[in-house]
Amino acid sequence: MYDFLIIGGGIVGMSTAMQLLGRYPDKKVLVLEKEGGPAEHQTGHNSGVIHAGVYYTPGSLKAKFCLEGNRDTKVFCQENGIKYEECGKLLVATNELEMERMKALWERTEANGLERYWLNAGELREREPNITGIGGIFVPSSGIVNYKQVTEAMARRFVEKGGEIRYSAEVTGLSESASEVRASTTQGSFSGRYLISCSGLMADRVVRMLGMEPEFRICPFRGEYYLLPEKHNRIVNHLIYPIPDPSMPFLGVHLTRMIDGTVTVGPNAVLAWMREGYRKTDISLADSFETLSYPGIRKVLQKNFKPGLIEMKNSLFKGGYLKEVQKYCPMVEKSDLTFYPAGVRAQAVSRDGKLVDDFLFVKTPRTINVCNAPSPAATSALPIGRYIIAEASSQFDL
Ligand SMILES: Cc1cc2nc3c(=O)[nH]c(=O)nc-3n(C[C@H](O)[C@H](O)[C@H](O)COP(=O)(O)OP(=O)(O)OC[C@H]3O[C@@H](n4cnc5c(N)ncnc54)[C@H](O)[C@@H]3O)c2cc1C
Repeated sequence: MYDFLIIGGGIVGMSTAMQLLGRYPDKKVLVLEKEGGPAEHQTGHNSGVIHAGVYYTPGSLKAKFCLEGNRDTKVFCQENGIKYEECGKLLVATNELEMERMKALWERTEANGLERYWLNAGELREREPNITGIGGIFVPSSGIVNYKQVTEAMARRFVEKGGEIRYSAEVTGLSESASEVRASTTQGSFSGRYLISCSGLMADRVVRMLGMEPEFRICPFRGEYYLLPEKHNRIVNHLIYPIPDPSMPFLGVHLTRMIDGTVTVGPNAVLAWMREGYRKTDISLADSFETLSYPGIRKVLQKNFKPGLIEMKNSLFKGGYLKEVQKYCPMVEKSDLTFYPAGVRAQAVSRDGKLVDDFLFVKTPRTINVCNAPSPAATSALPIGRYIIAEASSQFDL
C-alpha cells in the first residue's frame, strides 16, 4: 500500500509529488497519469508565460501564489538548467475606455505588491516601436518558459527521490474507506492511505468517482493561437497584452514571445465541444451534453452570448481575430497568421452560473482534490503544491 496516490502528471500533480517527497522522504508516493508521458494536456498547451500577478483579486490564492510562483519558477529553472527569460510584459491601452480600465489595473498591481511602471505613449513607442497605444503599464518580472520542460524536471526529481510514476494508467474508479483510498485504473488497482487529485479537465469527474456530487462543473474553453512567421520573431521586445474587459474572464489575444524564439498570437476563448479536443473538428457528444446540460454553464453562455458569438466568429474567420491584434500591432497581416496548436482550459463553473474565480480545493477525510486550477496555475504550481502539502499535514495522520 502507498502512503499517497496522486492523480495527474500535469505541472500541479508533479509539483505536489516532488515536494511531498522533499517534505516526507520516507513516504511511498505513486503518480497515476492516463497519458504516455507528463504534461500532455493544459500544461503542454499553454502560452508559457511566467505571470507576475497583475489581474488577480488582492488577497486571493491566485494573487498570493502567482507572486510566489513567479519567483519560485525562476529559481527552479536556475537549479535545474531550464531555459527561461525575464522579458517583462506591457499592457497596452489603445483608447480612452481602456485607459480608464488601465488605471484600475494599476491600482490592483499596487495592492498585489508588483513592481511596475506607467508609460506614456512616447515611452511605450520607445520600448516597442511596432506597438501602437496611448499608454501602457510595464511589468518587468513577467517571463517565459516551456512548462513541459519544467514538469519533466519535476518528474525526474520526484523519481530520484524514490517516487513512482505509472503512465498510461487512467483512474476509472475510486473508493474511500476509513483506512484507505482504492483506485481502479487501466493498469490494475492501487491503494493509498491518502489521495491527491490534480486531474485538470477531469477534476469534477474524479470528485464524482469519490461518490460526491460536485458543486461545480468543468467547462472546457479552447484557446486558439496563431504562429507568426520567422521574419516577425523580433516584432516585439516584451509580452504584449491588451487591457482586458473586467467583465470577461480571459486576458484577451496577446502577442507572446515564446522561449524557442518564435512569437504567437492568442489565445482566444471559445467553448470546446470535447474536453481534450485540440482540433476545431474534435467533437464528443457525451462531453458536449455534459457541458450544456449543466444549468450553471448555460447561464454563463446566456450572460456572455454576444461576446461568445464574436469569439466563435473570430475562431472561424481569421479577419476578426486579426483585428484584435491590429488594434495594437498594425503591421501584422492576415497571411502572417499560421497554424499553431490550441489548448483547452479547465474552468470550473458553479451551479448558479459563475466562473469560479479562485483556485478551488475540495476535501474528503482521505483526499484533497484540486478542482479549479486555470491560469496562472502553471506559474503557481510550486506554491499550490506547498499549500496542498500543508493542508495534508494538518488534515492527515502522517
Ligand atoms: C490556452 C492556455 C493558455 C495558458 N497560459 C498560461 C500561461 O501562460 N501561464 C500560466 O501560468 N498558466 C497558463 N495556463 C494555465 C495552465 O496551463 C494550467 O493552469 C496548468 O497547466 C494546470 O495544470 P494541471 O496539472 O492542473 O492540469 P493538466 O496539465 O491538465 O494536468 C492534468 C493531468 O491529469 C491527467 N488526468 C486527468 N484525469 C485522469 C485520470 N482519470 N486518470 C489519470 N490521469 C488523469 C491528465 O491526463 C493530465 O495530464 C494556460 C492554459 C491554457 C489552456
